[in-house]
Amino acid sequence: MKYSRLLTKPSKTAPAESDSINAKLLIQAAFVRQEMAGVYSWLPMGLRVFNKITNIIREELDAIGAQEILMPALQPKENWEITGRWDKVDVLFKVPSQTDREYALGPTHEEIVTPLVGSFVHSYKDLPVAVYQIQTKYRDELRAKSGVLRGREFGMKDLYSFHASQEDLERYYEVVKQTYLKIFSRCGLDAKVVEASGGSFTKKFSHEFQVITPAGEDDIIACSACSFAQNREIATYQDGADCPSCGAKLQSVKGIEIGNIFDLGTKFTEVFKLAYTDEQGERKTPLMACFGIGTTRLVGAIVEAHHDDKGMVWPKEVAPFSIHLVSIAGKDATEAARVIETANALYDELKGKGVEVFWDDRDDASAGEKFAVSDLMGMPLRLVISPKSLEQGGVEFKERTATSQEIIPLADVADRVL
Ligand code: ATP
Ligand code: MG
Repeated sequence: MKYSRLLTKPSKTAPAESDSINAKLLIQAAFVRQEMAGVYSWLPMGLRVFNKITNIIREELDAIGAQEILMPALQPKENWEITGRWDKVDVLFKVPSQTDREYALGPTHEEIVTPLVGSFVHSYKDLPVAVYQIQTKYRDELRAKSGVLRGREFGMKDLYSFHASQEDLERYYEVVKQTYLKIFSRCGLDAKVVEASGGSFTKKFSHEFQVITPAGEDDIIACSACSFAQNREIATYQDGADCPSCGAKLQSVKGIEIGNIFDLGTKFTEVFKLAYTDEQGERKTPLMACFGIGTTRLVGAIVEAHHDDKGMVWPKEVAPFSIHLVSIAGKDATEAARVIETANALYDELKGKGVEVFWDDRDDASAGEKFAVSDLMGMPLRLVISPKSLEQGGVEFKERTATSQEIIPLADVADRVL
């Protein structure tokens, strides 16, 4: 991708009003565009990050046997009446139709997935089974805020699993928990597993995955030494108390909830009358668990966790491009021609080898402007070709997180980046 062809150019200045770092940087770099409070368009750069995240999720969930489906955002009111949630969920968007009917805009999908799975599961041989989708959710949040962290329209990956026994549910719950940690680590995030309330539909607690950062809105009591952590909502311990698990001091910290997993028991399978025949020929109600990841919130959480005063710092696996190539042609026409020719050849060579390169090919921007854009957009690696770098024998090579750069021979570039 060349800068000159990119529709969505970054802005030289930060947006006038932004209540969070992710909003400020994502909007300034034109990764997203705010359409109204809590509603965003995903622009080419931001969408590339989003797609990388969702592809990691797909890979990891497919690997644990979950099957991808896609359910509708527009949902029948009747199903929400069956679960009693039509009048209970305050963030539910209710859509009137000219036919006098009303619909729900899905804030979650238990009302669709439970009868859906029920229509295919009849025998113990059909269990366990897990389905997931990567889809857009709608919630009439009182306050949409913190950029893409809390939207009224947002992306979620929701996975639902169905089991014949509590033991099997707990086994899969643990598999998903470990898979989530792997997904978040591939996204460059160190997520903490936090005990939290089970919500109105579970008896027990649930587990949240929290990125610990002052930008988070959740209050967490976490151990300074081991992995023990509880959401303040349910915490049985105070800041400064001894950790019940290892004895070290507990601290109060802030977190962004990027995922949440629940044991739903038979709450939904009972009301939708799901049943399977067990090995003895008896009719039984399957058990159900659900597992969410906030996919668009994840993009914002990564920015909150990885940035500096110059801009975003994308972890390698989710960066929109691996390389930000900068050509600085200079004033001398012969030198300029050589710089452009060299940059063009390197761009083609790297692209040909499957490396994702973003080339700032502008001839009307200064080196300073180009470096500022490169730092703002935050690709992991910056390569600079200029008369000076060519004179010194090649290309200037600098990782986004490094404080100094080195010159490497042109011929070595492909090997160094592959
Ligand atoms: P919160 O407590 O932040 O309102 P929640 O607990 O109601 O979220 P869940 O029902 O657990 O949300 O949804 C699964 C995941 O979807 C959450 O862990 C979060 O990452 C994401 N999510 C929830 N609400 C929003 C929102 N309004 N905007 C963006 N992401 C969201
Ligand atoms: Mg939650």
